[in-house]
Amino acid sequence: MLINGGVKMIMESIRKAIEFVHPYVPGKTIDEVKTAYGLEEVIKLGSNENPYGPFENAKEAMIKEIDQIFMYPDYEYEKLKEILAHKNYLKPSNVTLSHGAGGVLETLAKAFIEEGDEVIIPTQTYGLYREISIVMGANVIESPLNENYTIDIEDIVAKCTDKTKLIWLCNPNNPTGTMFGEVEFESLLERMPGNTWIVMDEAYIEFSNLAKRIDTIKYIKQRKNVIVVRTMSKAYGLAGARIGYSFANEEMIRIIDTVAEPFNANRIGLAGAIATLTKDQEIYESRLQAITDERKNMSRELTDMGMICIPSETNFVFFETGLNASDIGEELLKRGIIVRPCTGWGYQEAIRVTVGTKYENKRFLEEFKTLISKSFDRGSRS
Ligand code: PMP
Repeated sequence: MLINGGVKMIMESIRKAIEFVHPYVPGKTIDEVKTAYGLEEVIKLGSNENPYGPFENAKEAMIKEIDQIFMYPDYEYEKLKEILAHKNYLKPSNVTLSHGAGGVLETLAKAFIEEGDEVIIPTQTYGLYREISIVMGANVIESPLNENYTIDIEDIVAKCTDKTKLIWLCNPNNPTGTMFGEVEFESLLERMPGNTWIVMDEAYIEFSNLAKRIDTIKYIKQRKNVIVVRTMSKAYGLAGARIGYSFANEEMIRIIDTVAEPFNANRIGLAGAIATLTKDQEIYESRLQAITDERKNMSRELTDMGMICIPSETNFVFFETGLNASDIGEELLKRGIIVRPCTGWGYQEAIRVTVGTKYENKRFLEEFKTLISKSFDRGSRS
């Protein structure tokens, strides 16, 4: 009663919109699972991290940077912007940085959304877009994915109104791993209202097939209403260092940088990102190749077990099991393997598993196979 009363008082003080926000649900941590099940070894394939990171030069630079940590980041900030701009044929004034892509996304929500604005979000996508939009008071319009688990661009076009402020797109999409192409993207750009902006979250772009990628940079140069968001967390193996970035036209970048908190990227992360982008290219490419090769193996093995794997353009595989995904997730946890059941997205029988090292994938596949063939009660088929 007292607690309820307390919560009620707090709710009266905070902004109305906050009432409708759900906390972000991160994947389980290794320590959590070790403690919960008394396990020695836990393999984490639930958060789409890159197990090969950090690469050697990044590691060295980050260790070295620790002595400078008493100072705010300054010069390095500009340096990373320069490197990212150069790599993508843009100017440093087209780049903004933040603590992870998540930090950029949040700043974008702050910069764009006014109470009552409409935003369009695919129903089965990265959950943060929805929460940060609701915090800002947006009216969230959902667009369910197609039956083949791709974003339904035609449906999004049909849902645009003169109140549509933002369209949040994740390409390739988390959790399904699918990607839409340039023709669809252009058809959206041409038909959406003139004051609508597209946020293209390309967190997984480095894992995708080059021939299928949209040249999103081109649209920034053409000053279209597009903001591209990327991260050092996935392909570059620096998730814990928290560096994300975005590309947009210069005026938009000025606005984003004005809205963003000052010094929103830390010295250690900046040092790691700079070193890895300038000195770790060879190892980066070979690890990227290892992940895409293993992705192929994993999909093949899962298919052989009777699973339906959706072709992935990312560092994870989304597959339909024909079984209750929560039960499978729980059983795998007991065996020391963390995966992501996709029930929260409404896929009651689907699992998303990150492509890890050869060893990690082998362990997952072994445990999963045992689970579905012997010990797992087929009665839990949902
Ligand atoms: N976008 C997508 C699609 C993601 O999957 C993630 C992390 N899982 C992020 C953004 C956030 O990444 P970070 O903040 O680590 O850069």
